[in-house]
Amino acid sequence: MDKQRDFVLRTIEERGVKFVRLWFTDVVGTLKSVAIAPAEVEGAFTEGIGFDGSAIEGLSRTYESDLLAYPDPTTFQTLPWRGDIDPTARMFCDITTPDGEPAVADPRNVLKRTLARAADRGFTFYTHPEIEFYLLKSSKFGPEGPQPVDSAGYFDNVPGGTAHDFRRRSVRMLEDLGISVEFSHHEAGPGQNEIDLRYADALTTADNIMTFRTVIKEVAIEQGVYATFMPKPFSQFPGSGMHTHLSLFEGDANAFYEAGSQYQLSKIGRHFIAGLLRHAHEISAVTNQFVNSYKRLWGGDEAPSFVCWGHNNRSALVRVPLYKPNKGQSARVEYRAIDSAANPYLAFSLLLAAGMKGIEEGYELPAEAEDDVWALTDSERRALGYSPLPASLDHAIEFMENSELVAETLGEQVYNYVLANKRAEWRDYRTQVTPFELQRNVEIL
Ligand code: GLU
Ligand code: MG
Repeated sequence: MDKQRDFVLRTIEERGVKFVRLWFTDVVGTLKSVAIAPAEVEGAFTEGIGFDGSAIEGLSRTYESDLLAYPDPTTFQTLPWRGDIDPTARMFCDITTPDGEPAVADPRNVLKRTLARAADRGFTFYTHPEIEFYLLKSSKFGPEGPQPVDSAGYFDNVPGGTAHDFRRRSVRMLEDLGISVEFSHHEAGPGQNEIDLRYADALTTADNIMTFRTVIKEVAIEQGVYATFMPKPFSQFPGSGMHTHLSLFEGDANAFYEAGSQYQLSKIGRHFIAGLLRHAHEISAVTNQFVNSYKRLWGGDEAPSFVCWGHNNRSALVRVPLYKPNKGQSARVEYRAIDSAANPYLAFSLLLAAGMKGIEEGYELPAEAEDDVWALTDSERRALGYSPLPASLDHAIEFMENSELVAETLGEQVYNYVLANKRAEWRDYRTQVTPFELQRNVEIL
């Protein structure tokens, strides 16, 4: 640790870094930043930087509002979009109370706690997200709605197009920040893009997702366009999901892999999937945390709506992707409900907790879905046991209110805060009289 700190202090000196931003994330997944002068960094490592937590969504109760941010030296990076003149760097922080206890409401701490619980049982959790987003001409728009930057589709190569330059520039910047990109391509919607980050442990991935969102927004601004991670900005085009590949390792061995078993999937892997399925409803208000998230889940276009798993079945909630024989290390499962606007720290905590519960309790994996589950009738799906995911945020809140798993994993304070925040969002939404109602009702009623 001290070596890491020395490295940071030396790098600041050698590169003439003028500002160091301390980053952390609030409970709804918004990145917060406070800049300190290089001379303050040493003190920040040892004593933390004080701030008023009550000003930040869900971070503290008002009667214990003083919090400290301790930068994590392993996350030190200079920010490429700030340029070489007066360079700026950033570090993610751990948040503590004044007496040095981890702040219970720090989402990064919630994930660390959940990872530590899995580590006690010998498991390390890895994730790999496929992040979709839309590029718009502007964040401002008229009655015709937001305008995508192009009209291209899946894997289209748009010569000289915005998306091409955009992806090249973003991928370069991510690599400069130490974030490896596996794939990047145009997605199915006009102006929609996808960038897939390489596998990493879940804490690193969650940090990387927060950095990713910032990079994408910055590159968009630089190129005169606007990037949005909103789950469903257009009713007529696909939403933006963040399908995430998950795996557990025991030491160097992939715990989901077992040569010769069905799909080479181990018992642990099967229990883990069963856990994801059994708890999918109650974790939805976190994996799909906005009113708008449910427009994506129920809007078709390869977003999952029913709880089932399948081997290479893109209509299933959990997919077991094909991997090359003798590539046991890449055994993994893909969770397809989570969207690009989720708080990655909390969402990964719940996915891991759901899977671990499946392992601990030895949940039986139901039969796999072989059909296109969207094409079945309701009664066929009922007969096969594929229950629908929550239909709205309101519905998801109800499931979460009854969830011991979510309460235990998030801790009382975050659990209550998320619920209060989501209830308020639903209340505000419910007071709207929408154009839909007006068009349907004004004349005939
Ligand atoms: N955009 C789709 C979703 O919202 C996913 C498309 C894909 O399979 O990559 O989940
Ligand atoms: Mg995709």
